[in-house]
Amino acid sequence: MTGVKPAIAQAVDQLGDELEALSRRIHDHPELAYQEVKACDWLTEFLAQHGFKVEKGVAGVDTAFRATLETGDGPTIAILCEYDALPGIGHACGHNVIATAGVGAGAALAAVRSQLPKGRVQVIGTPAEEGGGGKLKLIQAGVFKDVDCAMMIHGFDRTLLHQDLLGIVRVTLEFTGKAAHAAADPWAGVNALDACIQTFNAISMLRQQMRPEYRIHGIITNGGAAPNIIPEYAAASFCVRAPRLDQMWALYKRVIACAEGAARASGTTLTVTQDENVYEPLKRNQVLLDLFSANMKSAGLAEGEPIPDRLGSSDIGNVSQVIPAIQPLIAIAPTGMAIHTREFADAAVRPLARAGLLASATTMAQTTLDLLAEPSRVEAAKQEFART
Ligand SMILES: [Zn+2]
Ligand SMILES: [Zn+2]
Repeated sequence: MTGVKPAIAQAVDQLGDELEALSRRIHDHPELAYQEVKACDWLTEFLAQHGFKVEKGVAGVDTAFRATLETGDGPTIAILCEYDALPGIGHACGHNVIATAGVGAGAALAAVRSQLPKGRVQVIGTPAEEGGGGKLKLIQAGVFKDVDCAMMIHGFDRTLLHQDLLGIVRVTLEFTGKAAHAAADPWAGVNALDACIQTFNAISMLRQQMRPEYRIHGIITNGGAAPNIIPEYAAASFCVRAPRLDQMWALYKRVIACAEGAARASGTTLTVTQDENVYEPLKRNQVLLDLFSANMKSAGLAEGEPIPDRLGSSDIGNVSQVIPAIQPLIAIAPTGMAIHTREFADAAVRPLARAGLLASATTMAQTTLDLLAEPSRVEAAKQEFART
C-alpha cells in the first residue's frame, strides 16, 4: 500500500481550499443540535460529488446521514462527523473541523478508489453531540451493527492520540414536603429545601472519599416559593461522571443514597428521574490508536503535553462501547486555549485549524486504508475490544 498513502495525502492537498471553504461555511452558519440542516446538506452534497452513495435521515434523525463507498466484500470502516454548534457561541467546539476532516478523508479515499482493497468506507453524520445524544439514537437504530471499526477526530488546543472521556449520567431529584407558615407554624411544615441542602452536604462529604478523576456537580433548580413559607417542593439536578461505567453507576448509587438519606432525615418524599441520555466512557483501542499514531507522525502531527486531569464527556464514548472506536484530539488552536469559548470559535477557522483539518483527513484516510488492506488488523482491534 506504499504508493496509495502518498496518493491519499496528495488528494487531501488538492482538496485543501475546498475543504477549508466548507469548514468556514459550516462555521459561519452555526446550527444547534438536531437542527443542522444546512451542514447536513452541504456535507452530503460534497460526498455525493465524490462518488459516495448518500442516505439522509438515517435512524429517523433528519440531520443524520450515512455515505457509503463500496469496493467489494471486506471490512466496513466508519469515519464519523459531528457538526452541531453551541447556543450563543457558535462553533466553539470546532465541530466544523470534525465534519470537514471526516468528509475530506472520505473524498481522499474515493480519489484512490481503483487502488482500494475490498471493503466499505462509511462516512457517518452524527448530529447533536452537545447534550442531545445523536450517536445514541444511531446506535439504537443499528447504524453501527455492520460497522467493524470507527474513528473520528476532535479539535483541541494540542494533539493527543487518546484522551479519556468520562461516562456521565444526569439525574433530577425532587423532594416533596408540606407547606406551613414559616413563623407562625414552622413545626407543621416538612421542609423540601432542607432535603436539597442536605443532599448537597452529603455529596460534599462523599467527594472526600471519591477518586480524583470522578466528578459530581449540581444545581438547585427549585428552592421554594417564598421565604415565609416552608418549602413544600424543591428540586436539584446533578451530573455524575467517572472514567468507567461500573464506577459511574456505583458513584451514581451513592449520590442517590445521599438524596434518600436527606429525604429520610427531612421527612420528605423523593422522586428520582434519571436522564436517558447517558454518555459512556471512551473505551481505549490500542490497535486502532497505533495505526492512527503511525500515520499521524507521517502527516506531521506531533503529540502535545498530556493533560490527564482535564476531562469531559461525549457520545463517541457510547460508540466505543459497542465497536472498536477512537477519537484522537488534534491541535486546531494555540496551546492553552480552552474549548467552548469565543476564542476557540475564532480559532476554528484560522490557518492552524486548516492545518489540523487536512492532517486529520489524511491520517483518517490512511488509517482506513491500513484496516481495509489487512483485515487481520480489524480482527485484532475486535479481539482487543472483546478482551477489555
Ligand atoms: Zn463541545
Ligand atoms: Zn465537541
